[in-house]
This record gives sequence, C-alpha cells and structure tokens, in this order.
Amino acid sequence: MQEGPAVVVGGNRGLGLGIADHLAEVGHHVVVTWRSAPGPRHEGVRCDVTDAAQVDAAFAAIQDQHGTPSAVVVNAGTAAIDLLLRPHDAKFRDVLDTNLMGSLYAARAAGRMMARARRGSIVLISSVSALYGTGGLGAYAASKAGQIGLARTLARELGRRNVTVNVVAPGVMEHGIDLIRDPDAWLADTPLGRAGQLSELGAVVAFLASERARFITGAVVPVDGGFAMGMT
Ligand code: NDP
Repeated sequence: MQEGPAVVVGGNRGLGLGIADHLAEVGHHVVVTWRSAPGPRHEGVRCDVTDAAQVDAAFAAIQDQHGTPSAVVVNAGTAAIDLLLRPHDAKFRDVLDTNLMGSLYAARAAGRMMARARRGSIVLISSVSALYGTGGLGAYAASKAGQIGLARTLARELGRRNVTVNVVAPGVMEHGIDLIRDPDAWLADTPLGRAGQLSELGAVVAFLASERARFITGAVVPVDGGFAMGMT
C-alpha cells in the first residue's frame, strides 16, 4: 500500500514552506494548506484554520485525492503584540483562534483519519515562548503553551491507535528575525549564538514524521540553539 501524503497546514510560505520543502526532499509526497495565496512549489488546498468546517473540508479533499495523510504538521500561526494588563481581548482571542483552535481543528481532522488507518504522525509547531513567556506576546505564549496540552492529551487518546503527536518548539529562526523587537537580546540568550535555519527545523520535523520516530509521542522537541535548555 502506498503511503499517504505529508500535509503541512500553513505550508505556503515561511517556516511552513521550509518544512514542506524538507519533507519533499526526504521523499514525502507533500500537500500544503494555504489561506491568502498558494505557495510556490507544493500542491495545495485553501483553508482558514480558524474555521473548523474549512479545515474538515480541506482534509476531506486531501484524503479523497491523495489518501489518508501519513504525517500532518500544523504550522499556521500568528502573533499580536500587547501587554497583558491592557484590555485587548479581541486581539487576544484572534491569536488563540488561529494558534490554538486552529491546531485543535487540524489535529482533530487528521487524528480522526489516522485513528481509522491505525497509523500517523502529527507535529504541532509551537515556540520557546510557550515555555518561557515573552513580554508583549502574552496571547502568543498562552496559545503556544496550549498547543502542548493539546498535543499531550491527543498523544494519550490516540496512542493505542498507533498515532503519535509531538510538538516542536523553535527558538529564534533566520526567517522572521527581522520582526523581533530586540534580536540581539534573543541571540545573547541563545547558547549557539545564532538564529536557526529552515533546514534545521525541517530535519527535526521530518525525523518525527519518520519510521524511526514511531516510539516518540507527547514530546516537546526544542529547535532553539539551546535557548530553553529543553524546558518542557
Ligand atoms: P509567517 O507569519 O511567516 O507565516 C505564517 C503562516 O501561517 C502562513 O502560512 C500563514 O498563511 C499561516 N496562517 C496564519 N493565520 C492563518 C489562518 N487563520 N489560517 C490559515 N493559515 C494561517 O510565520 P512563521 O513562518 O515565522 O511561523 C510559522 C510557525 O512557526 C508559527 O506557528 C509560529 O508561531 C512558529 N514559530 C516561528 C518562529 C520564527 O522565528 N519564525 C519561532 C518560533 C515559532 P497566509 O499566507 O495565508 O497568511
């Protein structure tokens, strides 16, 4: 039986595109989801992850055309800068809707299919902010920490169905470093003293999606140059 596709949710640009490229390089048939514009390389299906019906429809279309996904990487994410003591609840909810509810909708759609197939790997892309907190990024940190609770619960619920659920927590990456307020401070706290590359993230995600990682589930794997020292 031919293995189903590797799906990257939010794989049209940025880290998601880098992950999609790496998965393709190591031999996966890659399908991405995109919201605003299709990506440059991989075939894709449109969906906004804040809408459960769109996510379910995208996964149904992927399964119809390409088979049950063997791996699903949930990468779509957003951030909003604000201090927690300020009452910007709508902005806070928007971030939770994308990062946390979007992860739930995608992992749920993937998990149902994989549970039936009794095989699969789900990887959620979180952040060191989940573990450390980041001043001015409270909604982001809360949503990224929420992904860990979600993944670990799903790992317990789906383990007997041979479905693994893991989290990857990147630190400062070359992509996006220009958006950080004080990159030098972040790099000073990064023992390796540099930002990570897309290929370094892609390689870890590809490992978690591979045969060799079938006994790893519920893990939070840092790709952060030592920033969080494996704090989980
Ligand atoms: P970008 O802002 O460059 O890309 C964000 C991606 O998420 C795009 O594909 C975007 O699609 C998609 N997306 C956002 N909102 C939605 C939505 N409602 N529905 C569907 N897709 C959506 O971010 P990065 O590449 O930098 O980050 C990717 C992931 O990695 C995020 O989860 C982020 O939190 C995490 N991360 C990034 C780090 C970094 O240094 N870059 C460090 C740690 C974690 P569209 O093109 O439609 O906007």
